[in-house]
Amino acid sequence: MGQGVLSPGFSRVDGVLHADGVSLERLAHEVGTPAYVYSLARIRAQYRRLETALAQAMPDVPHRLHFSVKANSNLAILRTLQECGAGVDIVSAGELYRAREAGFGGTDIVFSGVGKTADELRLALEAPVLFVNVESEGELRLLDEVARAMGAVAPVALRVNPEVTVESPHEYIRTGEKGHKFGIPYDDAEAVARLAHELPNVALVGLDMHIGSQIATWEPYASALARIRPLFESLRVAGIQTLQWLDLGGGLGVTYEAEAPADVDRFAAGVAEAVRGLGVSLVFEPGRFLVAEAGVLLARVLYRKRSGGKEYVITDAGMNDLVRPSHYQAYHRIEPVTTPAGQLVADVVGPVCESGDFLALGREMADVGPGDLLAVHTAGAYGFVMASNYNSRPRPVEVVVDGDRYAVATERERLEDLVRLERAHLQWRSA
Ligand SMILES: *Cc1c(COP(=O)(O)O)cnc(C)c1O
Repeated sequence: MGQGVLSPGFSRVDGVLHADGVSLERLAHEVGTPAYVYSLARIRAQYRRLETALAQAMPDVPHRLHFSVKANSNLAILRTLQECGAGVDIVSAGELYRAREAGFGGTDIVFSGVGKTADELRLALEAPVLFVNVESEGELRLLDEVARAMGAVAPVALRVNPEVTVESPHEYIRTGEKGHKFGIPYDDAEAVARLAHELPNVALVGLDMHIGSQIATWEPYASALARIRPLFESLRVAGIQTLQWLDLGGGLGVTYEAEAPADVDRFAAGVAEAVRGLGVSLVFEPGRFLVAEAGVLLARVLYRKRSGGKEYVITDAGMNDLVRPSHYQAYHRIEPVTTPAGQLVADVVGPVCESGDFLALGREMADVGPGDLLAVHTAGAYGFVMASNYNSRPRPVEVVVDGDRYAVATERERLEDLVRLERAHLQWRSA
């Protein structure tokens, strides 16, 4: 293997794992560990792959990719996607703030989420966002009131629960089955849509669905669209001519272990077929697909230990840095940055005082020891964004790589940051 970038992302150059043109050994030396490292080239490549597939499958259907900010909300990542031409899908006022800071205009934003407050709805209308994905009749009525007080008309897409079964690896990432908290139950959707049409300060501009995450096959989308399309058509027939958008949500899967990633060409062809002749504009909300494989968590081995016949590799990264293994029983490939000889089977665990604090269990892996560096792969989505300060551990640094350059995108938290909002000396007020 020669020098330089082989393909965007992570590969070995002279035995050392690199992020594009940057040695992860060198990087760890410069910024310390634990550290999240993202390849911007890889993110751009994922964006282009999906965008190209959609454009080729349906050149005559207007569509936009709105990156789901909750997957990775770092400003540098948002900015990179903004430069690619993406919009964003947000779920909170905090994500709205981030999107604006990263340079997204109001109409580059759609606002999703099951529990928006009146304040959040007001901020959305001030932006103003492209549309609000409304998830209940109560939210619709509140939005109408908020809009009236502002003298505005709120553009609304109704998130409908298509009530389909989705094969995704963990029940926490299924969102489109009957009885889930998300969306408007399918049988209520028509009535809520008619209400939206009648309320004076909302305009029903679309329908929305998001059926889950880490979806590898086309079938769940096909089943869901087979439910949503007739609803869309019957609302149009009922005279709701403002309907323009169909938001198909996110969910496209990636490879963590050996899973087949989402087949974007199949997906694009399927969507094209499913919306043929409908005369809609489409929004997609990919999160994981755009960023997961572009990121690693770098950790350093602190200790090796044997207990109860088991091998432990103890690292300086724990569940507070990457909670997916513990929270979703998720698999993340773990690879040494340089290649030591030999193999072992071990639990890779962090320093947090919880038995649930692990990055991998019973993993066959390289025989690493204290001081060795590990790359925990596919950590670009739902990684840093789910990090916490549990055990008063400062959150890790985030670094972006572009070609053979790197930049710190988020400074490592300092100890004083941990207590910045706290008061040891209380200011009592009488109630
Ligand atoms: C989480 C989420 C997404 C993104 O899901 P991915 O599986 O990361 O693509 C899109 N839309 C909504 C409404 C979401 O909640």
